[in-house]
Parts: sequence; C-alpha cells; structure tokens
Amino acid sequence: MRVLGIETSCDETAVALVETNPWSTDILAQVISSQIELHRPYGGVVPEMATREHLRNLPLLVPQVMKEINLPLDAIDAVAATEGPGLASSLLIGHSYARALALALSKPMVGVNHLEGHLYSPFIANRRAVEFPFVGLIASGGHTLLVHALGWDRYVKLGSTVDDAAGEAFDKVAKLLGFPYPGGPEIEKMAAKGNPEAFGLPRSFPERDNLNFSFSGLKTAVRFFYEKSPQMQADPVWAYDLCASFQKAVVDVLVRKSMQAVAQARVERLAVSGGVLCNNALRLELEVACYAAGVDLIVADPTFCTDNAGMIAGTAAEKLEAGAAPRVGDDINPNLDLFAPDPEQGEAARGMNAAVKLKSRQKQGAAKDPELTSPGQVEVW
Ligand code: ADP
Ligand code: MG
Repeated sequence: MRVLGIETSCDETAVALVETNPWSTDILAQVISSQIELHRPYGGVVPEMATREHLRNLPLLVPQVMKEINLPLDAIDAVAATEGPGLASSLLIGHSYARALALALSKPMVGVNHLEGHLYSPFIANRRAVEFPFVGLIASGGHTLLVHALGWDRYVKLGSTVDDAAGEAFDKVAKLLGFPYPGGPEIEKMAAKGNPEAFGLPRSFPERDNLNFSFSGLKTAVRFFYEKSPQMQADPVWAYDLCASFQKAVVDVLVRKSMQAVAQARVERLAVSGGVLCNNALRLELEVACYAAGVDLIVADPTFCTDNAGMIAGTAAEKLEAGAAPRVGDDINPNLDLFAPDPEQGEAARGMNAAVKLKSRQKQGAAKDPELTSPGQVEVW
C-alpha cells in the first residue's frame, strides 16, 4: 500500500510517500520546506505567513515527490494529512489540499493526529514494525508528553507539561539570551562549550510518581541569573555555562521522568520523538539510562524528530494495514486530543470501517466501492 502524506501543522511544509511491506513501512520519498528563515526575524512563527507559504509550496512539493520516485499520482492508494493539533490556518491548507487530491484521484483520505505521527515516527524512521506496548516521549515546541501506548488508539496519558513545553523552554531561554529562533539548536551549540554544573538550576520533580513536567521555574531561574549578573553577560564563558546548565536541567528531568514512566508502565520499550530529541546530550543520556535499565530505546535520526510528512503518511499506512482506526478526515481540529474518551465511538469508528473496507478491497481486488473512494462531503473554502 502506498500512502502520500502531507504535514502542515505549523511552519514546515512536508510531503512524503511511503510504501508498506510485510515487516515495516518504507519512506520512498520525502521533501520538507522549512520556513525557519522566514520567521526568524519575528522570534517565532507568524501564522498568516506560514499559511501563505504552505499554499505556495504544496503544488510544487507534491509533484516533486512523485517525480523523485517516478510514479504517477494514481499509483497511490490513499492520501493522508495532519488533522490537528496545530495552527488552524496552516492545518487547513494541507488538509484541504489532501482532500481535493483524494477526491480527484478517487482515493480515501485519512486525517492523522500529529501527536500520533510523532509517537510512531521512531519505528517508521528505523523501518521497524510498531510493537506494543511501549512508552512514548514526545518533546517538541508545542508538547511534552509521556504516553503509554497499549495498542492502536489505546493510549494512556502518563504525564504532560503543566506550563511550557520543553522546546518552548529552549526557545524562550534562547530569546532571553539574545539567540535567534529556534532556540534549541543555538543553546545546544553554546552548551557544548560550557560547564553543566556551573549554575545550580532547579529541576522540577513534584512527587515521586507524578510524571508531569514543569519548566517555568527553570526558565525563571535562568532569567534571574541573567538579569542579576549584568557584569557577567559580557563574558562568553558565562553564557556557555548558563546554556550548559540549563540544557542539563532539561535533560535530567526528561530522562528521569521517561525512565520512571517505563518502570511504572512495566514496558520494555521507549520510543522518543519531537524536535527536542535532536539534542545530542539528551539522546546520549537516554541511551545511557536505557542501556543500564535494559530498555529498548527507539530513537529516530534527528532529521526525523522534527515535524515531517513521513510520520504522517507512515502512521496512516500502518493503521490501514493493521485494520486500525485512522480518522476519516472530514475536517481539521486545531485542538485534536490524542486521548479520545472512547476510541470505539464517533470519528474513529467511521475510520475503522473505511480502513477495513480498503483492506478487504485490496485483498479481493474488488470493484471500486463508491462509499470508500469518496473522501466524504467536500466543502468549498
Ligand atoms: P512542533 O511540532 O511543536 O512545532 P518540532 O517537533 O518541530 O515542534 O520541534 C521544534 C522544537 O524543537 C523547537 O522548540 C526547537 O527549539 C526544539 N529543538 C530543535 N532542535 C533542538 C536541539 N538540538 N536541542 C533542543 N531543542 C531543540
Ligand atoms: Mg511536531
């Protein structure tokens, strides 16, 4: 099964084509157009500008992906797009484009939860079959989340941030210190030259078995050191040390909570993703902790940790193959939750019908099912 995936939840326009095989899902081609340079002067993402870029990029990137693998558009079996969570106007562009494409090709359209894409991306990137149960850590600009994944659509929230996301904390501290957006890579560069023990920054570990995160106290402590020590600000070593100490504090919390989550959920696998997982100090500390605890750490290549369409197409393909319940993709939902109260109901159940039908049609080589091939009611925006 070949699935074309589109990801436009924030400031990256990404398109990918994946193909399932009996053991895993292969990414045949993928392109990402990053808007980092466009938004950098504003210190963050400007939604209207992101929307216009997605609109300009998609008609160029979809043919580019198909050209790369030398296949016509009708060689795909389904079209997938991020349904949420994300910026409403950005989501709308990718989702509408995917729906129109699916309609034109008479293929099913599948909406994918962006967080679910992150959750499975370490497996997809490593060409591994998704194995349940596992604990997923998602640490990005918008989320810090620990999930106990029991099966397709069976997720238990173990912990999440009560204030800033880990990536957001990196971005805000970088802004305070005068570094450009996005802050994570800048802080990592500075931290590589500093002493992580130089500043005694706080780590938030509420109660022993509480797996929530909080980074605002840490951010305030950095501000305190920065604002109270103007004479030190001129010294680059001081900035290196502050970055190294900040990074170490975030890494300590993420690693300790992840290992706690694995123990609490009694699982053997930890799959980690999201932009913050590009951080080498974090990757290294996770490797050390997982090795010591005998836990199978599944971590994607850094290029696959930030937003990408391979994870969207891959998640849709894996769920379709498994006969699980992808969403039907009628509309976007900027606040889409990963933890639906009852996955047997509503959208998910309708998605399940579409998935099961697609599978049986492919197996039997049956004639086109009009209900399946229509992506549903199409509105004109
Ligand atoms: P979102 O989906 O929420 O937009 P992404 O998964 O694209 O987030 O990740 C972007 C976030 O990752 C940003 O907050 C950025 O600062 C952070 N990030 C990227 N690289 C690094 C790094 N090397 N170290 C720490 N954080 C990083
Ligand atoms: Mg993301």
